[in-house]
Amino acid sequence: MEITFPKSVLIVVDVQQGFTSLCPGELPVPGGLEIVPAVNELLALPWARIDATQDWHPPDHLSFLGERDNLYPAHCVMGTPGADFLPGLHTDRFHTIWRKGFQRDFEAYAVTAQHPAFASMLTAGGIDTVVICGIAINICCFFTARDLRKAGFRVIMVEDASAGIDVPAAGLFQAESKREGEALGIAYIERRELRDR
Ligand SMILES: [Zn+2]
Repeated sequence: MEITFPKSVLIVVDVQQGFTSLCPGELPVPGGLEIVPAVNELLALPWARIDATQDWHPPDHLSFLGERDNLYPAHCVMGTPGADFLPGLHTDRFHTIWRKGFQRDFEAYAVTAQHPAFASMLTAGGIDTVVICGIAINICCFFTARDLRKAGFRVIMVEDASAGIDVPAAGLFQAESKREGEALGIAYIERRELRDR
């Protein structure tokens, strides 16, 4: 798949300890810890921008078990190890880190939900292609991809630099999200398929 790097952004979604086996009591996603080398390979490419997102919740966030939405174990609580990026991840390559979900009563799977001007900022910067990797491919990656696709960007999901998990309680399934994504025109690829135009 050919892209033009000077017009492309890499968005690294929630590559955080709380979504891996490093924090088994939080929200471990199978294979999450293992994506670091693949994400680092993507980070080495000559993107116009590299944006990272970070789930960053207060201890009583509405999505947590026992709180209003009662969906997930407490995870990625601000200032705790679960909220940290994964060890070995080349975070020095991040241009900007976007935190999300930091208000008790507001959930933001996608950077676009927390920061509504994100898409117009990309457009103003001459970006036309969005490449997404991270955790979870069917949740925070998916909603980011969906919003940006609807905003008119070409959107590519890198499956082998991402990890996913089915969450029946939230009605979020990997196969279903991919079907919905492909129907919207989102491309699902492996990283070796990326080529400079
Ligand atoms: Zn969260």
